[in-house]
Amino acid sequence: MATASAPAQPVGPLAGKIIVLDPGHGNHTGEHSAAGNWEDDNVLAIAKDTAPLLRAMGATVHLTRTGPNLLGSRNNGDLTARVAKATAWHADVFVSIHQNYVNGAPDVTGVETFWDNPNSRELAQDLQSALVAGTGMVNRGTRAWPYWVVACNPMPAVLIEGGFLSNVAQAARISTPAFYAQEAHAIASGLRTYLSTPGVPLGAVPLVGRNKYVCSTMNPVQANVWLTARGL
Ligand SMILES: [Zn+2]
Repeated sequence: MATASAPAQPVGPLAGKIIVLDPGHGNHTGEHSAAGNWEDDNVLAIAKDTAPLLRAMGATVHLTRTGPNLLGSRNNGDLTARVAKATAWHADVFVSIHQNYVNGAPDVTGVETFWDNPNSRELAQDLQSALVAGTGMVNRGTRAWPYWVVACNPMPAVLIEGGFLSNVAQAARISTPAFYAQEAHAIASGLRTYLSTPGVPLGAVPLVGRNKYVCSTMNPVQANVWLTARGL
């Protein structure tokens, strides 16, 4: 008589790791190029290309959204829902994926990675290095900036701005399946580096200082007003 076999344990260099990928925006509330390519759609495609690469290395991967819609009200419930999901999933790390736009500076290009809590700095550096190496884009470096999804997330959390939709040539490039796959491989490579490094921060730790105060007493819109009034 056949007996039920135990579920297969994941194997691979990222076995046991829990990764949350966060495609920014939804409902076409993100940026868009002059040609009509939307950040919302591009970053969802990148996240969907990244997830199987990480699963093949044994990781458990969650996407905060898998469809075109926001998770809640724009800039408020939507952002708190992303953090709540990552927390409920007990994420080891959180990676928000965006594309950039700057008014009045059509020549600006490149990739940059934002972090805010001290436990996120090394993750930002590993991802930024992998993104520069893997895409060849201009290296705009890593920077601390209190975007809600990084400032208010208790686990190592970063926000990638991978290319500028305000630059015509770069917008065309970063809106193609070939680029989605290229950035996905770069993100997976950076996460493999980080998650294979002994002793790096993983999982939730209590927020401290400014972010503990802001994230526990304000909603994202109030927090943005408060932070901006104080020069962040
Ligand atoms: Zn964005």
